[in-house]
Amino acid sequence: MAAQETDDHKYVYDFSEGNKELKDLLGGKGANLAEMTNLGLPVPPGFTITTEACQAYLATGREPDGLAGQIEEHLQSLEREMGKRLGDPQDPLLVSVRSGAKFSMPGMMETVLNVGLNDQSVVGLAAQAGQNDRFAWDSYRRLIQMFGKTVCEVPGEEFEHALDEIKSAKGTHNDLDLDANDLRGLVDAYKKIFAKHTGREFPQQPREQLDLAIRAVFESWNAERAVLYRRQERIPADLGTAVNVVTMVFGNLGPDSGTGVAFTRDPGSGAQGIYGDYLANAQGEDVVAGIRNTVPLQELEQLDKSSYDELLSIMARLEEHYRDLCDIEFTIERGKLWMLQTRVGKRTAAAAFVIAGQLVDEGLIDLDEALHRVNGAQLAQLMFPRFQLDHEFEAVATGIGASPGAASGTVVFTSARAVELAAEGESVILVRRETNPDDLNGMIAAKGILTSRGGKTSHAAVVARGMGKTCVSGADEIEVNVPAKRFTVAGHTVDEGDVVSIDGTTGKVYLGEVPVMPSEVVQYFEGSLDAEHVDNPLVRAVHRIMTHADAQRRLAVRTNADTGADAARARRFGAEGIGLCRTEHMFLGDRRELVERLILARDADERETALAALLPLQRADFMEIFREMDGLPVTVRLIDPPLHEFLPPLEQLAVNVAVAQERGEDVAKEEALLAAVRRMHEENPMLGLRGVRLGLVIPGLFAMQVRAIAEAAVAVVRAGGVACPEIMVPLVGAVQELETVRAEAEKIIAEVVGDSGVEVLIGTMIEVPRAALTAGQIAEAAEFFSFGTNDLTQMGWGFSRDDVEGAFFWRYLELGIFGISPFESIDRDGVGRLVRIAAEEGRAARPGLKLGVCGEHGGDPDSVHFFHSVGLDYVSCSPFRVPVARLEAGRAAVETDGSDSR
Ligand code: ADP
Ligand code: MG
Ligand code: MG
Repeated sequence: MAAQETDDHKYVYDFSEGNKELKDLLGGKGANLAEMTNLGLPVPPGFTITTEACQAYLATGREPDGLAGQIEEHLQSLEREMGKRLGDPQDPLLVSVRSGAKFSMPGMMETVLNVGLNDQSVVGLAAQAGQNDRFAWDSYRRLIQMFGKTVCEVPGEEFEHALDEIKSAKGTHNDLDLDANDLRGLVDAYKKIFAKHTGREFPQQPREQLDLAIRAVFESWNAERAVLYRRQERIPADLGTAVNVVTMVFGNLGPDSGTGVAFTRDPGSGAQGIYGDYLANAQGEDVVAGIRNTVPLQELEQLDKSSYDELLSIMARLEEHYRDLCDIEFTIERGKLWMLQTRVGKRTAAAAFVIAGQLVDEGLIDLDEALHRVNGAQLAQLMFPRFQLDHEFEAVATGIGASPGAASGTVVFTSARAVELAAEGESVILVRRETNPDDLNGMIAAKGILTSRGGKTSHAAVVARGMGKTCVSGADEIEVNVPAKRFTVAGHTVDEGDVVSIDGTTGKVYLGEVPVMPSEVVQYFEGSLDAEHVDNPLVRAVHRIMTHADAQRRLAVRTNADTGADAARARRFGAEGIGLCRTEHMFLGDRRELVERLILARDADERETALAALLPLQRADFMEIFREMDGLPVTVRLIDPPLHEFLPPLEQLAVNVAVAQERGEDVAKEEALLAAVRRMHEENPMLGLRGVRLGLVIPGLFAMQVRAIAEAAVAVVRAGGVACPEIMVPLVGAVQELETVRAEAEKIIAEVVGDSGVEVLIGTMIEVPRAALTAGQIAEAAEFFSFGTNDLTQMGWGFSRDDVEGAFFWRYLELGIFGISPFESIDRDGVGRLVRIAAEEGRAARPGLKLGVCGEHGGDPDSVHFFHSVGLDYVSCSPFRVPVARLEAGRAAVETDGSDSR
């Protein structure tokens, strides 16, 4: 029975049997060829071998049972339909064998054209084409070339070399100047190359050609470059590719034939219009290979008006059908148009917004769908300043856009030099073959990082993204010579001290300093561009889609801000409150002195004096923020870091003391500080005396902060304003800690607030795993939880963030232990589970418990979807990320199927 089933399993689909929804099975190319066939568009007949067949082949090393028979059946019916037979010496059917996976992997896998030609059928083909010998031999030489390279791994240069030789013997650069005889000679040369490399003659049996080509496409799934590409793009490794067998149509039959590519809109800007390239008398691969110069598609109108008109009407039809920008490949054979491929086209971030907006205007999609079609990563890209690339600048190399931004600076080749020049105030670009943990200081000092090796998960890429620093990695046209302090690229030599510019979004590298222009999208968010009036399609589209996202989202978006200025900026970006106001900066600068006094206090009196001096300063800070937020909630975190962070470093103090002693000065204070620093030294400060522990150990510290918050709120209210303070206790692991702090705080609040009407909530961060696991108990003493997912990730994984990112994360990413740093995007399975448990048990214990998140994950697109699904009330992130979080929260709300689309 089981064997029966495998035999019957359908591995081959005629184009008339598929449709665009079957991408998993038929690959993108196959599914869309089927869709176009069923729309009645002119697609050359053919069939698709499924990804399942490929998976079976890759698993077992042989074609699954039944596949050969099904291919034979479909081939026969194709022969009947075309009235030609594969390998017929008089009138041969020729086919192409084309790869096509679920996700497009441009240039990664292979295609063989003109399968079915051999020494006999080439003559028949010429006769059928009206004694066009040139065409037939050109087609045959292409087959041997592509088949040799793709199927038998013959080095492609050898074929190109032979072609160049014939051309130069003829004194021409143009392959069109080669006549039938030249091409016949080329076929002989190619066959020799083939035999030399494979130890066998070029296969003359068409069916053998076909089977070998199919197998080669299966195997190209695991070619090194394809594996690498998938890893970078996070495409699963087990999908396999489909194989399309398509009747050949010929663009190389003469001047009334040709081939081209087109987009239904500009994939760069989203503007409507006709964008494409056309090449007369050529086969498809010539357009990409750049063998001859293509002409703009518009010129086809002069060459072949009726094909051009038909193409335009098909393009309009496809757009309407797919309701999106499509890109297409087509061929014209003696005035007859054929469609060879279509798909929803890739586009830039700006085009994504503009097109989504246009399609809404055209009534093709609704606003929910428009929201679904853009994403936070694209919006973030649009918020970086851009290079202004009007004229003279041309990229000398293109690598991987590993960390976005536009950076110009002086080239340096070592970390030490980067640090040196940066200290002198220069912008530097650190150029390395690849970086390693020793380059960390240089990377911190540099404005941007450029490497010639490595992909999106290389050390350079991972660390740069973590630092928010512009990085282009893997620009392999660049030859880096560190000892000589220079690199060469495209005939240029760049020495240390020269200036280059790198674009971390596009991966492009420019010589010299490219001027930078601010982002219009940021100008819009900041209110200096009015979307209703500006004639800028991008700003209008962003405005429209953001407005819809705001209307749809369930998550509120707050910001992390410590100053009135940050708070104001974040409000312009749409923040609806402050989710994390850190109080530690309020202890820095000229206030350090007071903190030192607090730490050095010998008795309660001295301590209270120090705290009393801090109180009015803190109160003023909070008043400024409350005024700025004007009634929106403000979550203030009580002091969190270990106090010794506010003292000078041990070495510096030791030197100061020694020098002062030498000079015979009074060193009593320095010595006391030194002693304090020694006493307070911690082996693991991350896990030491910090957060709530400080509040429980240093009498009066939290009390002073609570009083400052309450007094500030009362002062603002008495002056006619509104203030909604929320006091947040950090690093709680046990409810008893919170209860102790709470009892003291409530007393102070009651005393300060009096009849002012001010309400102060008290809650806690959930950032210690134990807190998440005992959330039911902790909720009894908390009016809100705010997930501190940075610490929760550190403690959940046992990673010290500062140590691990530079040291070994690149290796973990390379090995696929995680697909993305858990500090960048929340680890749903582990840390996310802690969040879920705490949310559920917290709400069970206290219905209506307010839940938010204030780690950096609050501005990460994928994490926002997760927090939406867990049912949090808000996310909080840095001001710049607020628009991204708003957009993604809106997307999460309209994506009812629960799938996250990145
Ligand atoms: P890729 O995925 O790399 O674009 P394709 O399978 O689309 O590879 O094929 C490469 C080129 O050959 C394309 O330009 C395509 O249009 C052309 N081509 C493929 N099949 C045929 C065919 N049956 N007749 C004519 N040209 C073809
Ligand atoms: Mg293609
Ligand atoms: Mg923390």
